[in-house]
Amino acid sequence: MEAFDFIYPEYEVVRDGGRCTVCRVCERQCANGVHAYDPERGVMLADETKCVDCQRCVCLCPARALKIVESGNTFRRNENWTAPAISEVCRQAGSGGVLLSSMGNPGKYPVYWDRMLINASQVTNPPIDPLREPMETRTFLGAKPQRIERDEKGRIKNNLAPQLELEVPVMFSAMSYGSISYNAHAALARAAEELGTYYNTGEGGLHEDFYRYGKNTIVQVASGRFGVHKDYLNAGAAIEIKMGQGAKPGIGGHLPGRKIVGDVSRTRMIPEGSDAISPAPHHDIYSIEDLRQLVYSLKEATGYKKPVIVKIAAVHNVAAIASGVARSGADVIAVDGFRGGTGAAPARIRDNVGIPIELALAAVDQRLREEGIRGNVSVVAGGSIRSSADIVKAVALGADAVYIATAALLALGCRLCRSCHQGRCNWGIATQRPELVRRLDPEAGARRLVNLVTAWKHEIEEMMGGMGINSIEALRGNRLMLRGVGMTDRELEILGIRHAGE
Ligand code: SF4
Ligand code: SF4
Repeated sequence: MEAFDFIYPEYEVVRDGGRCTVCRVCERQCANGVHAYDPERGVMLADETKCVDCQRCVCLCPARALKIVESGNTFRRNENWTAPAISEVCRQAGSGGVLLSSMGNPGKYPVYWDRMLINASQVTNPPIDPLREPMETRTFLGAKPQRIERDEKGRIKNNLAPQLELEVPVMFSAMSYGSISYNAHAALARAAEELGTYYNTGEGGLHEDFYRYGKNTIVQVASGRFGVHKDYLNAGAAIEIKMGQGAKPGIGGHLPGRKIVGDVSRTRMIPEGSDAISPAPHHDIYSIEDLRQLVYSLKEATGYKKPVIVKIAAVHNVAAIASGVARSGADVIAVDGFRGGTGAAPARIRDNVGIPIELALAAVDQRLREEGIRGNVSVVAGGSIRSSADIVKAVALGADAVYIATAALLALGCRLCRSCHQGRCNWGIATQRPELVRRLDPEAGARRLVNLVTAWKHEIEEMMGGMGINSIEALRGNRLMLRGVGMTDRELEILGIRHAGE
């Protein structure tokens, strides 16, 4: 590296010399090689240029001697040329490469969830006590019949399309085997089974060990078609066609060859070490009619027994796109907002393309209602659902259920260091290195995921009870339960809610 390419690290390791016992745990725990023992002086040293602030050493230091802090190095203050802008230009001038990152957009855009407040009953229509009254959080995803049909003898026909049944309106969003580890997938699969919900294979195929979780699995068909074959399609409870992803709308996927090892290469059906590049478009889809063909090909291949989900990224004209998707024969539309996570994305795309899920969801629900086709499809919202309150707000804006992924990874230990693409995740999640994967115990991971979703279910019931609502069905699209704070009239209009105080 040229001397003038050096950029002072973003983070510094602070080690309390009075507490440190030189046990060298931090050295063993850091796959980035930040910590090292200096035998001459008998002390620990740190190379901060390698630190990604994953917090693994902080958590595991037995003496609580470590903390990671933002470095105090500053460029001369400039409101236009901020420190990240200057650093990025320097890095690209040095490397000539695209800036890669991972997880969701960390930018300073409005988080509309935090500008919406939930209603509660007071005198009339009193609240319901969820500890004493039954509360229904069960949700069915799939097309609902528009009217009752009868046969020639006057009996009601069962014309219900295949449905996904969720005990709680939360599913684990697509994360491929390859981008995350075997043990992370195992934890998600086990938790989905215990919770009565679903996890999603992502575009990496389905490892043979996980076929037994089929009734809680959504199998994905993405543009690369990695690992897609007849048994795979029939293995899951539903099939998801990925047209877009919130973290990187309009571009394909790229799993570096260093992550295509062993079982990952077998599951994807590609050679070890070769980059897995999914093209930006599906090469057989250039219109809603083409999409319809794929939807019906997949239904045909699975005997019309499985709902087909079409996942799209939240982009500018998302409502019109969703309207087309609803007419394609899809049973569920999954809309992924611009804060959605990913294992790897060009940072410029992640941070500048797409729109917030809150606005996209409200626009999609509104458009489908106006066109009288809301019942043709269920709508699943994803892209940074952080808490049970976000879920309640999403359902009130029109979602039938939500997808979570980043929150699920946080439950497994992730600390959002945004370096998944480097394949050295110290928490054993976004890595294929066996010594790192072993750090994540699938049993303990599944327990934490079950804990998280169970806690959220209780909180959802509390909030529903407070509103005087005892069924998630009655909350769906019930925008009267929301009020906005600190938003413009236009934002309120798109969200379809009133301002607080009205
Ligand atoms: S883990 Fe903590 S106590 Fe052990 S060497 Fe590192 S800083 Fe010192
Ligand atoms: S999964 Fe691992 S590498 Fe990715 S953000 Fe979380 S801690 Fe960092």
